[in-house]
Amino acid sequence: MPLYDFDLTSVNAQQNSDICIVGAGVVGLSTAVKLAQQLPHKKIVLLESGGATPDAAQAANEGEIIGNNAYALISSRARALGGSQWFWGGNSRPLQPIDFKKRNWVANSGWPISYAQFSEHIESATQLLDIDNSDWSNQHPNLKQVKLNNTELFDHTHFKLSPQITHTSEVATGTFYQSKQTLIESLDNLDIITHATVVDYQLKDNHSGFASLTIANLQQKQHVIKAESFIFAAGALENARILKYFTEKDDLNLPCRDVIGKYFMEHPHRFLNILVSGKEIHSKYQDYFGKFVGSAMHQARFTLSENFQRQEKLNNCTLTFLPSDQKNNIKGAFSREQVLFVVALMEQEPQASNYIQLDAQKDIFNIPKIKLHWSLSDQDWTTLKKVSKTVDQFVGVNRLGRSFSKTFNRKVTVRGGHHHMGTTRMGTSPTEAVVDKDCRVFGLDNVYMAGGSVFPTGGAVNPTINMVILAQRLADTIIKKHAHE
Ligand SMILES: Cc1cc2nc3c(=O)[nH]c(=O)nc-3n(C[C@H](O)[C@H](O)[C@H](O)COP(=O)(O)OP(=O)(O)OC[C@H]3O[C@@H](n4cnc5c(N)ncnc54)[C@H](O)[C@@H]3O)c2cc1C
Repeated sequence: MPLYDFDLTSVNAQQNSDICIVGAGVVGLSTAVKLAQQLPHKKIVLLESGGATPDAAQAANEGEIIGNNAYALISSRARALGGSQWFWGGNSRPLQPIDFKKRNWVANSGWPISYAQFSEHIESATQLLDIDNSDWSNQHPNLKQVKLNNTELFDHTHFKLSPQITHTSEVATGTFYQSKQTLIESLDNLDIITHATVVDYQLKDNHSGFASLTIANLQQKQHVIKAESFIFAAGALENARILKYFTEKDDLNLPCRDVIGKYFMEHPHRFLNILVSGKEIHSKYQDYFGKFVGSAMHQARFTLSENFQRQEKLNNCTLTFLPSDQKNNIKGAFSREQVLFVVALMEQEPQASNYIQLDAQKDIFNIPKIKLHWSLSDQDWTTLKKVSKTVDQFVGVNRLGRSFSKTFNRKVTVRGGHHHMGTTRMGTSPTEAVVDKDCRVFGLDNVYMAGGSVFPTGGAVNPTINMVILAQRLADTIIKKHAHE
């Protein structure tokens, strides 16, 4: 696998390819690996804006959040070979069947593909992320989960930690690129070009799709890459920013034009309850703080049961239990009692009013910066409040300690997980979606989107494994398209 640095080499020889992928995060890289393996007669080129590690190109991630200003956009994703896995925490769990359904109480919910179609790729995505695939069922046999008496409210669940992290030395194998470097380097038909930021496109003569993309580096060197198919795997903020910029600058008349950048979603993380108990009860929560099962860290959690979501018309939500040593400051706790924080990771309702706007200010590559409009809907707040109240009752009935709900002030910023989703959503019509069920952009016959940008809803689980699952499905579509050429 030739690895070119566009800063250093004169990649002015045409780097033409059959399939061109934009973005060398885990989604772009894992897609490239599958395509290179299964289409050995095709040339795959992977374009990456950053260098081998996060560097000056990171400044292109600057932007502004208007509304729920939970974090700085510049550090909410990484520009480098390996992408945002340089920063991520590795928590992983596939979406649940209910996440794919149209629920009349969650606006704009419903996927154009079924859970069965999605779940075909769970095993391969799990392997790609080096996660133990032994058991995804809710009640893991090797985890001690507290006994639940009235299970119509909550179900057990558990998350697993991918070792593809860079910041915990005990388990870290590095990003997907670092963990799979030998495999990636063995693929002769895959070229990776770093410091190659996509800044422009050229249409085919008949305007049915893209003919090529222009790449640039910070020294304003440019080059044109031709291909038959193009996959954008630049992350949900960048996929939408690039496509929106292309359509607006040239008045490109795509049928989905008005939807690009809309329906941004996060996973609001909200500290909901304080739980106090004696040592004996507290010890029942040990596996909720994390436990090694085999070689992988697992973490037990609660999730809202499907019945409870339907009955109370709630978003999906999972609950984490975090130990705290703040007991002296907790009103209502006795000095010998242990304290836990109950934290929600909630599905966010997809709303057109959460959207990416192109700013008048330009980034270091002369592309408009992002203004991200992000707030929580009434439905989102209703879910958080109801779940918090239910935890109070549930904990009491199940003798799991004493729970105190936190007060809700809608003006207080709600944390996010740096989980960007929904901005080029998947659907059946260009009036309400940007890509079709095969992740192809409406109005372009050879341009595809990969990653969280295509999620119509985000469920209540960390997104990356689900991005990889969908990208494996997209790779199959591309393989079918190119196999007989
Ligand atoms: C602090 C933090 C903690 C997180 N924890 C978790 C977690 O525990 N579990 C979980 O599931 N997720 C977590 N995430 C989210 C996770 O990191 C992302 O979902 C995932 O890495 C996205 O992968 P990706 O390949 O789609 O995008 P990215 O990894 O962002 O890769 C996109 C690549 O595209 C490149 N690019 C962008 N624009 C261009 C362009 N114009 N031309 C060429 N290349 C371009 C970028 O440089 C980048 O390398 C976390 C994120 C952060 C920041």
